[in-house]
Amino acid sequence: ESQLNPNYSFVNFVEGDSNRLARSAGMAVANKPGGTSFNPLLIYGGVGLGKTHLAHAIGVDIKDKYPDKTVLYISSEKFTQQFIDSVKSNTRNDFIHFYQMIDVLIIDDVQFLSGKAGTQDVFFHIFNHLHQNGKQVILTSDKAPVDMQDIEQRLLSRFKWGLSAELQAPDYETRISILENKLFRDGVEMPEEIIEYIAQNIKSNVRELEGVIISMIAQASFNRREFSIELAKQIVDKFVKNTKKEVSIDYIQKEVSKYFDMDVATLQSKTRKRHIVQARQLAMYFAKRLTKTSLASIGNQIGQRDHATVLHACKTVDNLSETDKQFRKYVDDLTKKLTF
Ligand code: ADP
Ligand code: MG
Repeated sequence: ESQLNPNYSFVNFVEGDSNRLARSAGMAVANKPGGTSFNPLLIYGGVGLGKTHLAHAIGVDIKDKYPDKTVLYISSEKFTQQFIDSVKSNTRNDFIHFYQMIDVLIIDDVQFLSGKAGTQDVFFHIFNHLHQNGKQVILTSDKAPVDMQDIEQRLLSRFKWGLSAELQAPDYETRISILENKLFRDGVEMPEEIIEYIAQNIKSNVRELEGVIISMIAQASFNRREFSIELAKQIVDKFVKNTKKEVSIDYIQKEVSKYFDMDVATLQSKTRKRHIVQARQLAMYFAKRLTKTSLASIGNQIGQRDHATVLHACKTVDNLSETDKQFRKYVDDLTKKLTF
């Protein structure tokens, strides 16, 4: 049993700027498992950005092209549990042997191996055996190897041998495509303006984009309601509320400063240096977005500015994040840091 989910295919995995590298690396691996320099292929990124989907898609495609190859998908929690069980029942060698026989091993969410020395040790040996024998290893994680904690150095260095490819939060165009693709697969038509409304308001999680569509369809059919902006707004608000954890303005200032490698005093200072102004504007923008604080109070707390300055900052950030790719990355990275 490969444990692969055939619904998670490449065909269903909408391509966009945010996932192009990871997606094409996945396809390259699927064409020649074990035969590329992408070994291991490590796919990393935040919650709900498609790591599990892409990992399955690679496995499904390999099974299609190479029916004789043994492909196994497993979560790292399950892997850990199996290992612990094998130790208890004195079948550790069987466990190792089983994994060493696999042609394509896919382990999801390897960040859960952190702190588990025994499991890391056994995985290290399995990994080496597979790698030496030209077998393919595919891993996913919520972080890049450099940012992983409590994972043994020798294992981290193995993770870096191949390719680490990031799945980023989808840009607006990709969000639209994902929504349209989902609607198409469900055989549902929805007015363009509603699709745009959803894409404008759910920005950092594909699972939530799909969740809104699922709720919309359920609500509309259950209550015989039309698809309307009002309905979309209700549902989007619920999603946004559920996922938003309250953050303080202090916390936002600290995180934004840290991200730009400056201290909070610098962020708040009167300087007009561009990168400091931008950091300050981002802090204001996130304070507006993630807290219920008034503009006046935000200005007061972030370097004694007035409410018009805060308003201007929010507009600037909105504009720049639509037009400037680098700036958009700042917004996306910080959104991840502040909301996950
Ligand atoms: P992760 O493992 O990173 O938390 P998942 O792989 O579980 O995320 O993805 C969450 C949901 O979003 C899944 O239903 C998946 O099919 C969908 N999804 C993610 N990325 C895409 C994409 N590029 N195209 C289509 N669906 C996607
Ligand atoms: Mg996952």
